[in-house]
Amino acid sequence: MSLPAAPGTDRQTASPPGFRSGFVALAGRPNVGKSTLLNRLIGTKVSIVSPVPQTTRLVIRAVARSAAAEIVYVDTPGIHRPQHAMNREMVEAAREALSGADLILQLIDGAEGFGPGDGYLVRILEETRLPAFLVINKIDAMRRSALLPLIDDVRRRYAWSEIHPCSALTGEGCQELEDSIRALLPEGPPLFPDDFVTDLPTRLALAEIVREQLLLRTRDELPHATAVIVDAVERSETGEYRIAATIYVDRDSQKGIVIGKAGAGIKAIGATARMGMAAFLGAPAHLSLWVKVKKGWRNEVQLLRLLGISGKG
Ligand code: GDP
Ligand code: MG
Repeated sequence: MSLPAAPGTDRQTASPPGFRSGFVALAGRPNVGKSTLLNRLIGTKVSIVSPVPQTTRLVIRAVARSAAAEIVYVDTPGIHRPQHAMNREMVEAAREALSGADLILQLIDGAEGFGPGDGYLVRILEETRLPAFLVINKIDAMRRSALLPLIDDVRRRYAWSEIHPCSALTGEGCQELEDSIRALLPEGPPLFPDDFVTDLPTRLALAEIVREQLLLRTRDELPHATAVIVDAVERSETGEYRIAATIYVDRDSQKGIVIGKAGAGIKAIGATARMGMAAFLGAPAHLSLWVKVKKGWRNEVQLLRLLGISGKG
């Protein structure tokens, strides 16, 4: 497999003609087979499945890169809530989280059919106006004669771009699904540099350690107003790690809150995060921590693209 060239100013020209890339959000009630399908779609590709627990926005589950495409599969925390707990604000939050995706895959369990919980997700889809595929999973576990009526049923629920019956378990229909996903993504270079794809789980975990400290210390003052990007992870010959990370905030006033009086806030965050990182990496760690104001970063259509252009805040 030939991977695209290393990142840099020539990234745009480094991708082969026709290369496609984008974000695909997986949605669906628990147990419909999201994890199983993800594993199936990733297969033998260069891929990473993130071990990082869920936070508030799009969470990368896997980056699957082949010679023809880079597909970033993401989760949208908050989108799988039960219907009774939903309110206007939650729909809005989920909609905003999804707005960075190029395509949404909504999975249902074919054997169970389309239930109220699935209908809840459709309400969110309606808000996003993004292309969405309905994936009817577990067709191996249903009577074949039930499939056409089910397709008829779901067709009336929403204006899906496509409907794909498949079995994540046996693989039936999964290649067709993947081909359709790729065809729908925009043409463009890989979103992440090669070394980023390889380091992704580590970077996400380290960013999470900083974010945790940040939230602990700024709690009420900075609700959800921050993002943490790990710009670099280097290991010296002596085995020590040097990590550079940037905290992005919306406004100057928030930058002041993070930095604190005479830098006390950022120092404390950095010191505790550094210890957490050393424990996570199993080696001494040095951390350079920066705070940058990037107005309206939350509204960036593809916030996560930031992750691929580290150092250019
Ligand atoms: P998630 O909660 O949506 O991530 O669902 P999982 O991927 O964890 O799957 C839930 C259960 O459904 C597991 O026991 C899977 O083995 C099973 N499962 C997933 N996909 C299929 C399928 O296509 N056919 C059948 N028969 N079972 C499946
Ligand atoms: Mg799962």
